[in-house]
Amino acid sequence: MNLEFSATEKTFRDEVQTFLAEKLTSDFRTYTSLMTSVYSDRETALAWQAVLCAQGWAAPSWPVEHGGCEWSVSQHYIFQSELSKAGAPPLSPMGIGMCGPALLGHGSAAQKAYYLPRILSGEDYWSQGYSEPHAGSDLAQLTMSAVADGDDYICNGSKIWTTHAHESNMMFCLVRTDATGRPQQGITFILIDMTTPGVTVDPIGMLTGEHIQNAVFFDDVRVPKANVIGEVDKGWTVAKYLLEFERGGSAYGPQLQQRLHKIQTTADELGALDSAFSQRLAQATVDVTALEYAELRLMADLSKGGTPGLRASMMKIKGTELSQHLTELAIEVAGAYGAPFQPDHVKAGGVNLDPRKSNEGPIGPASVRADMSKYFNDRAGSIYAGSNEIQRNILSKGQLGL
Ligand SMILES: Cc1cc2nc3c(=O)[nH]c(=O)nc-3n(C[C@H](O)[C@H](O)[C@H](O)COP(=O)(O)OP(=O)(O)OC[C@H]3O[C@@H](n4cnc5c(N)ncnc54)[C@H](O)[C@@H]3O)c2cc1C
Repeated sequence: MNLEFSATEKTFRDEVQTFLAEKLTSDFRTYTSLMTSVYSDRETALAWQAVLCAQGWAAPSWPVEHGGCEWSVSQHYIFQSELSKAGAPPLSPMGIGMCGPALLGHGSAAQKAYYLPRILSGEDYWSQGYSEPHAGSDLAQLTMSAVADGDDYICNGSKIWTTHAHESNMMFCLVRTDATGRPQQGITFILIDMTTPGVTVDPIGMLTGEHIQNAVFFDDVRVPKANVIGEVDKGWTVAKYLLEFERGGSAYGPQLQQRLHKIQTTADELGALDSAFSQRLAQATVDVTALEYAELRLMADLSKGGTPGLRASMMKIKGTELSQHLTELAIEVAGAYGAPFQPDHVKAGGVNLDPRKSNEGPIGPASVRADMSKYFNDRAGSIYAGSNEIQRNILSKGQLGL
């Protein structure tokens, strides 16, 4: 296997580096270095998305006719790596990464023409309405109802843990249009305008006090039938397609490598790089590199028209567990500097629900200030997008035939 980039790929890497040197301002870089969550806040995500959009690089994996790039697998990988290395803030995954692929795979021509440009421009900011209080791991038990009434559906029920629902104007949502068959039947994938009367959004605070997730209530909400994506009662097919992308479509490797590098540099600066810690860092490097190679193999398959399939579950388990492991190594390096709670001096993924403000200046070096919040935030990684226990069930059935 030749792991060297070709001359053309090196030229592309130079082009990306030049672009980032010019457009990724120090404000963006500082923001990313102090982020506590896996999500940027709305303002920063949209500001960076606008810069990428102007370059034609906001949704590189989309088809070219819809604003994507005709890149090879290596180019996608180089792009991801360079974004991570340079400290670019992540875009919100719900629009470009999730609703976009659902529309591309299952939307009508009119739906694609209307929604895709609005996703790219940030005019529509999306949330994902799948989970309900009694339908998380067993998602097919969802009960939010949609009853046909003329050209509309009348929706009633609730969603929970909905990331960005309070900031989004659109939600892609799973609703029950028929409750008579198997649980997976009778589910419909529909787009809901969050400004419609009858939609109420209540905050759920994270361990760090940040407001990113929500409970959303629907009380006789009218949604046009034209907003159904794919076939009525066949939304499970769209949802499964999308979940594969949610779990396996993103590359963990480049950002984990970058975080490892930062842990090593900071440990060196703070005198924490003793031989025992170096050994643990070396093991983490081996694990992250193994994941990265598995991702490269998956990307090669995707470029030939394949789908993530079962490997999505493997990537999700390894990616989130390694990410959590790195947050543990990072707070070991931070030591006592991990203890002060200083939400005013980091970049939270959402407004802090605790109104108390500190009049203290920042404590400790900037390189470790967000680490404890990141540690707390990352506990959710093995739960969202389908818990890791469920991914292990999927692998044991699908791969091992148990
Ligand atoms: C930070 C965060 C953000 C989220 N964002 C969104 C979002 O934007 N949109 C959205 O729709 N949802 C979102 N979710 C919800 C997420 O998808 C669910 O939390 C997840 O699917 C688990 O469902 P649950 O919380 O109902 O837990 P449960 O399904 O009740 O599971 C509880 C525990 O039991 C285990 N368990 C359950 N069934 C089995 C089984 N058969 N075998 C072995 N173990 C099992 C689980 O692994 C888990 O540990 C988010 C969750 C979090 C924490």
